[in-house]
Amino acid sequence: MAKMPHLVHWLTGQFRETEREAWYRRAIKPRVRCESRLAWMLAALIFGMFSISDYFYVGQSRELYLLLAMRVVVVGSCLFLAWAIGRWGSYSQRLWLHALPLWVMATGIILIVPLRPDSLSTQMMAVIVATMAFYLLIPNLLTVVAMASLYLGIGFLCASAIFADSSSVDVLRMALLLIMANAVGFCTLLRVERLQRKQFAILSEERDQNRQLLREMAHRQSLEGQLRRLAERDALTGLANRRHFMKRAQSMFESAREVQAPFSLFMLDVDHFKTINDTWGHSHGDRVLMEIARVCAESLRSHDLIARFGGEEFVVALPDTSLSDALPVAQRLHRAVADLALPFEGGERGAAVTVTIGIVEARPDEDNLEVLIHRADKALYVGKRDGRDQVVACRESQA
Ligand code: GH3
Ligand code: MG
Ligand code: MG
Repeated sequence: MAKMPHLVHWLTGQFRETEREAWYRRAIKPRVRCESRLAWMLAALIFGMFSISDYFYVGQSRELYLLLAMRVVVVGSCLFLAWAIGRWGSYSQRLWLHALPLWVMATGIILIVPLRPDSLSTQMMAVIVATMAFYLLIPNLLTVVAMASLYLGIGFLCASAIFADSSSVDVLRMALLLIMANAVGFCTLLRVERLQRKQFAILSEERDQNRQLLREMAHRQSLEGQLRRLAERDALTGLANRRHFMKRAQSMFESAREVQAPFSLFMLDVDHFKTINDTWGHSHGDRVLMEIARVCAESLRSHDLIARFGGEEFVVALPDTSLSDALPVAQRLHRAVADLALPFEGGERGAAVTVTIGIVEARPDEDNLEVLIHRADKALYVGKRDGRDQVVACRESQA
């Protein structure tokens, strides 16, 4: 971000960039509308209340009626403008609407001089209070307030000279007082405007940084997710890899042991896969593996876990499943693979691919997943030895 002192104009207290200034004014619009409305209602009330002092100064005279009429017009206009600001007072576009009541009020104050020329010192006080209120009470841009205050000051001094027969020394004394009031008001408002804008700039920058941080966090999370998936999945088949299987199956196995639920496991090996590779090529072999992985995954329940154990071997963990329940599942998988229609490069239907599956159920005293896998492997070996293309369950006697 650019250095703060250069962001805000030293004299107007506004942002140098018009776009940023418009953005700032849009941001504070609701607050300005509300505060302006309240301030003008209060100012109108106070201005109206001074009709009591009119009576004391001029008695029941023509001037009193003129003063009353003038005050009614000013109070009415201010109240109407307060309502209009609350409704349409866009702080970035309709600045004139915010400036108008200042000029109306200033005119009202100036008009008191010809109608009540004897109370000049009281009016002087009122002008100073009004000037400070212009700067500090009613939210407005510094330039707008300075113009209206200048009008009030010059108008009041001229009216004093013309209608109250003030001497040039008195006019000078009042001018000095007004200059002082304007200088204090101007400097204070300038400071407030600058501080508010700097605060706004810091807040906006912080918000931008937060947004960027959130975006980066989301990006990192998605990268982490991708990395995790890559680390857990087998690249060819999309199934879980061996490492991930061991981790998850171990916790499934332990959970089953805790509640003494049955737990079964398959080892599945593609028969004569080397021949498939040698005959049809390695890439065809890859496609066969992908197809087998797909049908197997589709044939299993959502809470079963299948993984590529390595090469053309797959492993399946079946929580909450006894050997007698696992057997039909294995047979279903065996049949699903045999039914696979695998087209070869030339387009003709290929020879059926078969698998041998070894099944095992964890014994109640068993607590080692590796041993369970080893027993399933042994059952698989029996199947291979006995001619392949079959499902072999590991009975206790075989273990
Ligand atoms: P068996 O019926 O006894 O299991 O015989 P087999 O030919 O299936 O078993 P063997 O262990 O002799 O051969 C496995 C082959 O699988 C050898 C290896 O090149 C191949 N293989 C391992 N991983 C992949 C792979 O990712 N893609 C392909 N296309 N082939 C693979
Ligand atoms: Mg093998
Ligand atoms: Mg094999």
